[in-house]
Amino acid sequence: MSNDAELSTVDPEIFDLIQKEDARQRDKLRLIPSENYAYPAVMEACGSSLNNKYSEGYAGRRYYEGQQNIDGVENLAKERLQQLFGVDHANVQPYSGSPANLAVYFAFCKPGDPVLGMGLPSGGHLTHGWNVSISGKFFDAKQYGVRKDDLLIDFDEVASLAKEHSPKLIWCGATAYPRVIDFAKFAQIAEDVGAILVADISHISGLVAAGVHPSPVGHAGVISSTTHKTFRGPRGGMILCDAAHKKAIDRAVFPGLQGGPHNGTTAGIAIAAKLAMTDEFKTYAQRIVDDSRALAETLMGGGVDVVTGGSDNHLILCDLTSKNVPGKVAAQALDRAGIVCNYNSVPFDTRKPFDPSGIRLGTPAMAARGMGPAEMKQVGQWMTAVIDAPDDDATIERIAGEVTALCQQFPAPGV
Ligand SMILES: *Cc1c(COP(=O)(O)O)cnc(C)c1O
Repeated sequence: MSNDAELSTVDPEIFDLIQKEDARQRDKLRLIPSENYAYPAVMEACGSSLNNKYSEGYAGRRYYEGQQNIDGVENLAKERLQQLFGVDHANVQPYSGSPANLAVYFAFCKPGDPVLGMGLPSGGHLTHGWNVSISGKFFDAKQYGVRKDDLLIDFDEVASLAKEHSPKLIWCGATAYPRVIDFAKFAQIAEDVGAILVADISHISGLVAAGVHPSPVGHAGVISSTTHKTFRGPRGGMILCDAAHKKAIDRAVFPGLQGGPHNGTTAGIAIAAKLAMTDEFKTYAQRIVDDSRALAETLMGGGVDVVTGGSDNHLILCDLTSKNVPGKVAAQALDRAGIVCNYNSVPFDTRKPFDPSGIRLGTPAMAARGMGPAEMKQVGQWMTAVIDAPDDDATIERIAGEVTALCQQFPAPGV
């Protein structure tokens, strides 16, 4: 056997695990809001010869020869993103969402500088200044949250913290927030204290591209995002910014933080940006939101407490306190029924983060299979049945069979 033989020959163990993961992604309902099915064309680009090329630097100014094709790939990715989102500049080299955010800190802050972001317990991301993250350890991070009465972003708290601490950066955007983000309101607060507003649209970049969520462009001078969530591209990151911030951002990514860009990923971002300009994508993004609304309504109809009473985007947060089921128990029972979600803290949670009160759901992957509101109604009914009886193995087994049958009617793209 040659080491250059195909995967099934050189490593049957890994080959087998990938086959099984393909089957899992085909046969189960994937409701984790940060996940999706990347386009088949994106997967092709990620596994291509672009993987083999080093290209430190930027197009036209590389530290290696042989960039005849790579510059073209990176320029297409940049130009398409600039056109799609209507921004001056795009950097497509961040390895993922977290490194993109770290590059933003590095572009504008010194260690110890004040920054302001949404707290993790309210739905913010680790990288927005949470204490266990480098963003909370290396910077003087203050955290805003949501209001106790309606669980919406507390803009009075954002404004007062901003005034008190004069942060260099104000982060908006979230990882577990089911409502529209008011970028204009954040921009006003940032302007009042001379902070740069950074909109992290990792979860919603596909919705923003399609126009089903308001755009931060014109409000936030810097926009960061992953490329693999609602955007359906490869695992990667991007930073979009005003011309004034171009130099600082580019320098922070390379040579500040990273070495060579992942060129297969860059090609995948270019492909996803092209596809995000199509009518088919707009229909897809609208379906994500319609599905989320239908699923939230069905769950509420089944007596599930949905945080903020609904969803404007792709994401639903459920508080299972009134159902007397911990989030982890519910998530594990749902997984046995073929419905995959993640347990999650809810705002003002009285339980511990590793054993919280809620579950977090999202519709991007189901919408990518073509499932619509009618299917979400069915899914919501199954979920309610499992949440009401997480130990009822007979019901869970019956639902698991029905889930597989539904999945067979809606092929999973690319797996
Ligand atoms: C997912 C996410 C990130 C981090 O992305 P990774 O690719 O997992 O590093 C950053 N910010 C927000 C808001 C996210 O949802």
